[in-house]
Amino acid sequence: MNISKEITIVGGGLAGLTAAIHLSKIGLKVMLIEKNEYPKHKVCGEYVSNEILPYLNWLSLDISELNSTQISKLDFSTVDGQMIHCDLPLGGFGVSRYAFDYFLCKKAVQNGCKIIQDNVEDIVYKKDIFTVTTSNGKIINSRIVIGAFGKRSNIDLKLKRKFALKKSHWLAVKAHYSGNFPNDLVGLHNFEGGYCGVSKVENDAINICYLTTYTSFKKHKNIDEFQNQVVAKNPHLRSVFETSKMIFDSPLTISQVSFDKKAVVENHILMIGDTAGLIHPLCGNGMAMAIHSAKIVCELINKFYKNEVKSRDELEKMYKNEWKRNFKKRIRIGRLLAFLLQNSNVSIALMKIMITFPILLPFIIKQTHGKSIVIKD
Ligand SMILES: Cc1cc2nc3c(=O)[nH]c(=O)nc-3n(C[C@H](O)[C@H](O)[C@H](O)COP(=O)(O)OP(=O)(O)OC[C@H]3O[C@@H](n4cnc5c(N)ncnc54)[C@H](O)[C@@H]3O)c2cc1C
Repeated sequence: MNISKEITIVGGGLAGLTAAIHLSKIGLKVMLIEKNEYPKHKVCGEYVSNEILPYLNWLSLDISELNSTQISKLDFSTVDGQMIHCDLPLGGFGVSRYAFDYFLCKKAVQNGCKIIQDNVEDIVYKKDIFTVTTSNGKIINSRIVIGAFGKRSNIDLKLKRKFALKKSHWLAVKAHYSGNFPNDLVGLHNFEGGYCGVSKVENDAINICYLTTYTSFKKHKNIDEFQNQVVAKNPHLRSVFETSKMIFDSPLTISQVSFDKKAVVENHILMIGDTAGLIHPLCGNGMAMAIHSAKIVCELINKFYKNEVKSRDELEKMYKNEWKRNFKKRIRIGRLLAFLLQNSNVSIALMKIMITFPILLPFIIKQTHGKSIVIKD
């Protein structure tokens, strides 16, 4: 058997591409397999927390090339339109996934990573070696596999991951619009059965992305009707829809978005990004977590290759612990917030408390975000 010294990364979203760039920067060989072509639009709120900027700098990624927007303010409203405004503690930037993922892909290729466009069908671990099989009949053997295949993939079913065997009732819709919206603002507005993020990305486009339950959505014939009758009941969202025009031919949708707990290491595959766990999008922290988890796993893999981490068992234990230490609390708080906001009486009561104590909203935001990543070189 020809065992490649390369590390195999399955999935080339933000997590997989960041891991590829990191590992190649420290001199390790990488093969990344991504089923889709770049560039491609993805359903996402497209607000990235600034906490990852020091790490992106360390990876020699100059995000000024993306012409992203600088976002420092938040408008938050309840279903009935009561609104509170605050400065974001760390702030963030607005960039489309179309541009961001492609930017990282080009950097990974420049660093010498092999990127293959193919669909991974199976990952089998036997006698300390992985065999990765693709739809085009490619068979790759390697010692380390990083799972970066996103929220829900065919591989989750192959691995019989618990969350994938259960139906999830969340779906999401996103499109870009032209119109007037401040560059430095992210709007997070609740509506009956969901919440919607509005912010600007590059090229003056407004990204509108919402998450809702299948139960709310199925009462309506189509997206237009749902938006008019449910989403736009929130007066702030109504005003955004009335003053903007969709640039996409039609909105993008995804279904079966699961926020259930996931195993961080499964079948010895080191999971990163959404494959390890997804935070509620209302926190606006999923992308930063995806990128940060890539950093954590790459640093440990480096130690494993240098024999500072002595065994696979130790590598897996250390990764699980570091992942939990960094992300478990944020995910839990995100879950609790989403649950509370689903109940309109509770969310109105919460809003009253936040209006009385304005310090509370930035405090809650801090609980769902990380601190600026510290780079020790
Ligand atoms: C509605 C919504 C709004 C959001 N808004 C925000 C926000 O504003 N800010 C924020 O920070 N986060 C947000 N998030 C979260 C954010 O989108 C994710 O956390 C982020 O995309 C995770 O990146 P990833 O690399 O883990 O996964 P992905 O970007 O999904 O990448 C996974 C990749 O794996 C590939 N893949 C899957 N299966 C296979 C296979 N079998 N073979 C080969 N390739 C495969 C896919 O094609 C994909 O490119 C939002 C999420 C949702 C659902």
